[in-house]
Amino acid sequence: MSIKKIITEPNKILRQVSEPVEKVGKSEQDLMDDMLDTMYHAKGIGLAAVQIGVPKRIIVMDINWSNGEKNPLYFVNPVIKNRDNNKSIYEEGCLSVPNQFAQIERPSKCKIEYLNYKGEKKILNADGLLATCIQHEMDHLEGILFIDYLSKLKKGMIIKKLLKNKPDRIVV
Ligand code: ZN
Repeated sequence: MSIKKIITEPNKILRQVSEPVEKVGKSEQDLMDDMLDTMYHAKGIGLAAVQIGVPKRIIVMDINWSNGEKNPLYFVNPVIKNRDNNKSIYEEGCLSVPNQFAQIERPSKCKIEYLNYKGEKKILNADGLLATCIQHEMDHLEGILFIDYLSKLKKGMIIKKLLKNKPDRIVV
């Protein structure tokens, strides 16, 4: 298990559509272990594989771990089967869009079909924070970031700030 570097916006990798996983084997489980380590280390509650540069349809989440008890969830090839007409709003952030937050409206409940860590087919009925988080993470699989829901002006301001704060920019 190891901690990987999280890719931040702007970066073309984050805009790729991730590929379905053929089967959940050792290498996929190793990837999920690394993703979870990376997510906890970065103090996030969800991470998609593409955020560490692997464009596969894999997500890890643990929405309450900061309360002390770890309860990781693994989603391979997740598909949204049902979305509620009711919406809820959360202030969202993203490990790939550091230190930026915005209120985003999403369906308040959804039903997800997916494979778990062992490759077993599962169904999850999510609501509240869990529903918002899984929809945010599933957007990553399509190359979508939460800032894409904002106005052009607001999104432009965020990108500008991110470029300013990119640490690996040097002039020699
Ligand atoms: Zn994110």
